[in-house]
Amino acid sequence: MGAGRIGTSVVGRGMRRLLLAVLVCALGASLAAALTASGRAGRGAATEPRHASAASDLCTSSAPIPASALAGGLDAGCSLTGRTVVSGKVEVQVPPPGVTVAADGIGSHGESRSLVVSDRGGVVSSGSSAAGAAAAAASSQPTDCRSSQYVLENGGHPWSTTVHWKLRNASVPARMKVTAVASRLKAAFAAWRFDHNDCGLTGQPKRLRDTYDGWTSTPTGIGMRSGTLKCGSFNHTNTVDIGHLPGDLLGWTCYWWGTHGSMIAFDTRLSSSTALVLALPRGCRNKWDLQSVATHEFGHAIGLGHVSNASQTMHGVAPACTTAPRTIGRGDRLGLKALYGIS
Ligand SMILES: [Zn+2]
Repeated sequence: MGAGRIGTSVVGRGMRRLLLAVLVCALGASLAAALTASGRAGRGAATEPRHASAASDLCTSSAPIPASALAGGLDAGCSLTGRTVVSGKVEVQVPPPGVTVAADGIGSHGESRSLVVSDRGGVVSSGSSAAGAAAAAASSQPTDCRSSQYVLENGGHPWSTTVHWKLRNASVPARMKVTAVASRLKAAFAAWRFDHNDCGLTGQPKRLRDTYDGWTSTPTGIGMRSGTLKCGSFNHTNTVDIGHLPGDLLGWTCYWWGTHGSMIAFDTRLSSSTALVLALPRGCRNKWDLQSVATHEFGHAIGLGHVSNASQTMHGVAPACTTAPRTIGRGDRLGLKALYGIS
């Protein structure tokens, strides 16, 4: 797509935005294709007369549940907690009652995958959190510090407690130092926690706290199964690892929040592809900055969704050969402010 030719030292952000606009079109196209595909699946799998029998089948089978069967909310008459829900090439497990799980991925060339599954008092529903990004192709691109775009995932669910998170050190590829990865990740979270923005604005979030608790041997549970990318089961640990991600995905975050309105947990995987690097090389081409991708993924982890403005860290396509997303844009910052206040 030519994104690899974008270098921050040579090409200004205006040019970057122009090139990103091309990527945004690709995102729009892929989303449209995905939506068309899911629409087809929905019509084929769950016409109205078959819906009731599908519900009763859910209780007697352990087979994965197509997300389309849950699109309008479904009370199956039995607990679906822990059951696998599949949408296209993504799967999550039905969370316990009162909890919602969402999964979001950022792609290098426009691929975007997402799935949201909620259990509200036994009624399990599914959807996509990619709606914010779907408008990308049609929207204009205001200059960096004029954008006010942000998306609060499902209306907003900030952390009300300190975010404790760990790095699965054994997952770090041999080509990277674990300590270097940890320091990049800490810096990525700090962009949000300490409001490191592009626009010279000063302040600090009032209610966002995090603690890096070091290394863990516990896997995230993120991985591939039968060609689909899955989140781990619901748990209260927050873990970052590095591993295989399919397609052109560079980062993938699974996160859980409760009906009480607060974020509960997250897991993030960064791609083990050699396209993701700790330091951009001279003459950079088709390389992506690990810290920038991590900053985007942590944006999901604190409660933000994708926006269409390409100059924001929460844009749904990762720009190549730039460290610009390490700092947050004005729109990102307004989202941060909406969730945590800024003093
Ligand atoms: Zn994302």
